Amino acid sequence: MSKIPHFTFDLDAPGVNTGHLFVPKGADCEALSLPVFSLNKGKGPRLLITGGCHGNELEGPIVARRIIDWLPGAQTCGRVIIVPELNPLAVQAWNRNTPIDGLNLNRVFPGRADGSVTERIADAVSRLLLPMADTVLDLHSFGPLWEFPPATTTHPIADADLMAKTLRMAEAFKLPMTLVWEHDDTPGMFDTFAQNQGKVFVCAELGGGTVGAEDLGIYEAGVRNALIALGLVEGEAEYPTFRQQKSSQTLETLTSDWLRSPARGIFEPRCSVLDEVKQGDLIGILHSMDSLSASSVDIRAPTRSVVCAVKSGLHVEANDGVALLGRPLNP
Ligand SMILES: [Zn+2]
Repeated sequence: MSKIPHFTFDLDAPGVNTGHLFVPKGADCEALSLPVFSLNKGKGPRLLITGGCHGNELEGPIVARRIIDWLPGAQTCGRVIIVPELNPLAVQAWNRNTPIDGLNLNRVFPGRADGSVTERIADAVSRLLLPMADTVLDLHSFGPLWEFPPATTTHPIADADLMAKTLRMAEAFKLPMTLVWEHDDTPGMFDTFAQNQGKVFVCAELGGGTVGAEDLGIYEAGVRNALIALGLVEGEAEYPTFRQQKSSQTLETLTSDWLRSPARGIFEPRCSVLDEVKQGDLIGILHSMDSLSASSVDIRAPTRSVVCAVKSGLHVEANDGVALLGRPLNP
């Protein structure tokens, strides 16, 4: 029993149940026990909420716990399974990747039973957790190095029907930004693995920078809105207030929309997320550390756009991303 992944409890039992997802030991480390919450109210939507895939994005684990506290008094049907930390080793290290094998959990799906620890976690999630859900909400954030608004994201999906369903689910959070995000083909993503099985998968990117109380309230409201839209909870969705505004916009961003640093130096942001900029507007300034007489370099918007993400003031290398721009989807 201890050689294969398993649940330590019966998830089919009615009501609230908690236990663990057991990930077997391997050559590199001991077995892991990932805490799992399950609330089974019979027939209805089957939802999986995960957080802590990346260890320096703790918005997800915190919001997941708030949802666990709220759900027993709110859920009226269906089943919700919540795993606040998919990768406890990365969370403990406050590191994006797992320290032991250096792997990014969101690049190794569906994992390997005889692989390194990150691959074994992915294998347990793929084989045991994912089959129990039709919808997955994976709670990430942009991490400590970025300013980023509370957002949900999806990537373009070839299946038009699944794309429409996924976009509707992402917009149901009613967070300030819903982002359809094109990027280069990246193997091993949890998103793609779930979508290839026809599941609706929304990646929430719950802000960036430091993790503060006001923003956590916005993120929790967004996840609650999603549960209302799924019909698991009764009630009216509300637009969370972000920077004095109650509004939501759907944007798209392409791989060519990254603005990159032309050299190494200290990046000074000169815009904020959700700013509307036109061609030539200042996005940031790059300061050389080699000489105070060297002139700083302005980084400007190449076209009319909305600022989706901007890097915090910090030292960057040449070609590092410093801002991500977007534009309204199908304006
Ligand atoms: Zn992440």
